Amino acid sequence: MYKTFGLVAAFALFSVPAHAQNPAGVEADAARLRADVETLVSFGTRHTLSSPDDPKRGIGAARRWAAAEFARIGKTCGGCITVETLDRRFTGPRALNGVNVVNVLGVQRGSGSPDDVIIISAHIDSRVSDVADFTSDAPGANDDGSGSALVIEAARILSKEKFAPTIIYALLSGEEQGLWGGRLIAETAQARGWQVRALLNNDIVGNTEGQDGRRVADRVRVFSEGIRAAESTVEAMARRGSGGEDDGPSRALMRAAQRVGKARSDIGLEVFGVRRPDRFARGGDHLPALELGYPAIRFTVGVENYDHQHQDVRVEGERKFGDTIDEMDFAYLARVTSLNAALVRELASAPSAPASAMLGGAVTSDTQVTWAPVAGAARYKVYWRRADARDWEQSQETTDTKLTLPGVIVDDHFAGVAAVSQSGAESTITFAGLPPR
Ligand SMILES: [Zn+2]
Repeated sequence: MYKTFGLVAAFALFSVPAHAQNPAGVEADAARLRADVETLVSFGTRHTLSSPDDPKRGIGAARRWAAAEFARIGKTCGGCITVETLDRRFTGPRALNGVNVVNVLGVQRGSGSPDDVIIISAHIDSRVSDVADFTSDAPGANDDGSGSALVIEAARILSKEKFAPTIIYALLSGEEQGLWGGRLIAETAQARGWQVRALLNNDIVGNTEGQDGRRVADRVRVFSEGIRAAESTVEAMARRGSGGEDDGPSRALMRAAQRVGKARSDIGLEVFGVRRPDRFARGGDHLPALELGYPAIRFTVGVENYDHQHQDVRVEGERKFGDTIDEMDFAYLARVTSLNAALVRELASAPSAPASAMLGGAVTSDTQVTWAPVAGAARYKVYWRRADARDWEQSQETTDTKLTLPGVIVDDHFAGVAAVSQSGAESTITFAGLPPR
């Protein structure tokens, strides 16, 4: 099925909206995802402090396999994906003598605006109960073999298509030691001046049975930041005047995931948008990106099972512990993978989001929205909602860079603007507020 998909998409690109390109539903292959997780588990442990050199066991072997896999996928698309590694030595409480953290990237360079970047990531490292134990078997099937397999499968799917921006498939190391791989890629983005449209972090995306036995197979959670960690004092003052605590760029990215999830009901996943940067009192590799001001969200399962995360593989009485492959649900992982691919496709087919949008209309009965023009935008879509509503309620398209909404009282409404491509693919929505000054 997926072999024919590229052809279908190539024709569809020019005729139908981006979100409708794939009537095939779940494009990801559950059997291939399982095979990749089996391979990742076969390295014994992928602890960041495990051997970087051993040909069979440890994180080095896993990273080399992943790099070879990206290279192999690149060969099938005429070299559209190149492999790059990022590495830096990190030292901290969880690696007292320091360790070389290596991220493996598959880079699908954009044909139009290659400095615009969409990153889809997971962490390849694993751990057991003792975070310092780098020798015991740490299968890390779900945490985060599931996300790693998803990233590789997304590369297989999306490499069949061409996009103006660059897509980076990123397998990060050092997550369990302190989100080091996440910091390395975020700082690399900053140093190289990438215009990051989105970072999608997939961490624990492959189980459907919870700790208490409940099953959640039709929902994926997406965690997002509301108020930006990177907000300056001047920006904070502007936001205090306009509102927008629920409308930061990462929250907008979460809403884009929800929109794509609804448009692609054939994938069969509800996007549960959790209005928090990550799970309560826990973190992930998207957090360093947020700190540098990039839109970033975390995908994770609808329900977690803590007996199968960060645990030594063992049996206590009737109770099994350990992050083993038999606890996973690959049909579910295939759906989460397909949703990620659909979201990347939408964002990569769209122009960039407007860099800024302004709201006007104080002491009148109308609302005015103006925004910065976007290169490559065929038109714009202005969204608005009542100021007590959670989600956008109404929208109107225009080819102009301003729009008046007659009879919409600005005090009582929020507004935002998306840039739209000729094919109908939409950027995330830029919240309209007071200009920072
Ligand atoms: Zn994890």
